[in-house]
Amino acid sequence: MTAADRVISRFAPSTTGEAHPGTLLAALLVWLDARARGGRALLRLEDLDVTRTRAAWAGQLVEACAWLGLAWDEVVIQSDRRGAHEAALDALAAAGRLYPCTCSRADRAGGRRAPDGSWAYTNACRARPLPAGGWRAVDDAALRARLPDEPLALIDEGGLDLSQTPAVELGDPIVRRRDRVIAYQLAVVVDDGDAGITDVVRGRDIAPSTATQVLLQRLLGLPTPRYRHHFLLLEPRAAAGAPATKLAKLHGSMPWSQLRARHDGPALCGILAHAAGLRDAPTPCWPADLVADFTWARVPRADRVARWGDDGLTITAD
Ligand code: GLU
Ligand code: ZN
Repeated sequence: MTAADRVISRFAPSTTGEAHPGTLLAALLVWLDARARGGRALLRLEDLDVTRTRAAWAGQLVEACAWLGLAWDEVVIQSDRRGAHEAALDALAAAGRLYPCTCSRADRAGGRRAPDGSWAYTNACRARPLPAGGWRAVDDAALRARLPDEPLALIDEGGLDLSQTPAVELGDPIVRRRDRVIAYQLAVVVDDGDAGITDVVRGRDIAPSTATQVLLQRLLGLPTPRYRHHFLLLEPRAAAGAPATKLAKLHGSMPWSQLRARHDGPALCGILAHAAGLRDAPTPCWPADLVADFTWARVPRADRVARWGDDGLTITAD
């Protein structure tokens, strides 16, 4: 393998809550996939959303990964990258791709349902010009990027079909929010591009954003990495027949402070490795023990259910 085709991967959690089993599973899979191919793995702390992020949660994520036995080649703090994000907005503006939008969520409600479950945006403000002072002078509106209207054919490394016409199915993405925060869709593309990321491994909940991100990469002249979207950990059904819901950071379910009081790092690693099909039993291990035998062929496609009980964390097929 030459330096040019060396795998560079990243784990990019939002620092908007405590780490939970799903966070640590995602970290483990990114790290194993990179290490098994002799690649680099970096940790990017996505802390741009000033209304939701906390420095303590960023610090805790770093600590939780180390506790689990994951060492990163580099740690990137996304809020340090404001200059690169602004340069990308300049480039989009220069290409005539940026426009202000004041439409509210209520304006979209009742319209088309987007693949991520939200309401699609109809691109109603596309014809609005930027003010004479450019995008920096826009402080009462969000900024959106006008995407090409074309369909994008895309199958990820796991065979998941992510083909979409993002401009229609989701609408043009917000790239800078009304409160001036750089939006996720832009930051992720710019940061992955600048870090030379070759492989994006992440949870299936983000899969509906991938086509939008690929079109943004094209607008910015950035390469498209390989993508793979893995299974999620779900909360148990509240009642028989009710759909399982994703283990959300927002719900604070099974925070790391609770996990570590009951399990040590190797015990949790064993539970996660077993859930990911990498061990026959949930017995203690370190991530480094799993590298030699790691292959995606062993990792289940179907989501798994995480429960908290007398034995601490258990993860099962349903
Ligand atoms: N920060 C995003 C999240 O935690 C994920 C970013 C990504 O992997 O693309 O949901
Ligand atoms: Zn609008």
